[in-house]
Amino acid sequence: MNYIVFDLEWNQSPGGHVRENPKIPFEILEIGAVKLNGRRKVVDQFHETIKPLVYTRMNRYTQKVVHMDMRDLKNSRTFTPVAKSFLKWCGKNPVFVTWGPSDLFELQRNLEYYHIEHRFPKPFLYVDLQKLYSLGYLDGKKRPALHEVVEAMNIPQDRPFHAAFDDAWYTAQIMRQMEGIKPLLSYKSVDYYHLPEKKEEEFTLNFKTYSKFVSMLYPDKEAAMQEASVTDLKCNRCGRPLEVKIDWFSGTGGSMYYALCECPKHGPVKGKIRLRKGPGEEVFVVKTIKAATEQDVADIEERQQSAQERRHKRAEKERARRKARKAALAAENKQKAKARITQQKAKRSRSKKPDSAPKGNKKGE
Ligand SMILES: [Zn+2]
Repeated sequence: MNYIVFDLEWNQSPGGHVRENPKIPFEILEIGAVKLNGRRKVVDQFHETIKPLVYTRMNRYTQKVVHMDMRDLKNSRTFTPVAKSFLKWCGKNPVFVTWGPSDLFELQRNLEYYHIEHRFPKPFLYVDLQKLYSLGYLDGKKRPALHEVVEAMNIPQDRPFHAAFDDAWYTAQIMRQMEGIKPLLSYKSVDYYHLPEKKEEEFTLNFKTYSKFVSMLYPDKEAAMQEASVTDLKCNRCGRPLEVKIDWFSGTGGSMYYALCECPKHGPVKGKIRLRKGPGEEVFVVKTIKAATEQDVADIEERQQSAQERRHKRAEKERARRKARKAALAAENKQKAKARITQQKAKRSRSKKPDSAPKGNKKGE
């Protein structure tokens, strides 16, 4: 089994967002990769620049970071032959390694744009070394820049950054030199470019300390949260159905949901749902289930309390608004009634006038 550590450089619409092609917002200009064997020894390398076909002028922000301009690319091959060479060079069943999740996503978007066939597995797992570095050396949440880690690890900085091959090379060096990486390598990331297309394709991955479920696309969050597969709570270690202590409730912003449960064998377990935007308006769900520490239990209880308070405040506001509306309506009706009475009085007094005037005429006496 080989690791393919790769990096891409891409351009975007020089005319800004309005002039971009939504099918390919980022057009790949360069692929750089280093092949490592199972013992993380460098066995081969790949580097090629690409002549663009969609955006033929450089976006000014891109120009600032990439070490190329359009003149350098005019003799390069176009994406289709380069991508085919690259995929062939990768070999069978490689494990892709990237710094952050976007390179694998954009590679697939470009492959799809040019209708290039590939045989990536479903689910498609890869190594996000930026995440593993954070899990091993930082808090697990931070996402450090490549050059920061190169510096922290005292890797000689004898190459430029933001050039595809050099970034891939640095990433490979980090992978080779990271101590204690072996157990971390089991924490694969899931690619979200190709999502499950139907219910039967939804899947759960079991990692050592947590499980991760990825859903298909649903029209909106309400529809997603009605699905049993989405809200289902089973222990990540033994698969037993969990006893629900605090049922799913939404956090601030509405894209996260939390739950707290108990496994009869493993104790407190927490559930987290993250609603993510798919293409268009649709959403998909990433649900993780993990043992809950005392701190986690306290955090979830606190979150639930503030969610309840938010709900109460919202309800109170709604009640106040309804009351105000009712009062305004009543005042309006009163006004109308008053106007009607005044009108009627005026009418009556008008109709009285003609027969009151001639009276007292003493003609006929
Ligand atoms: Zn259990």
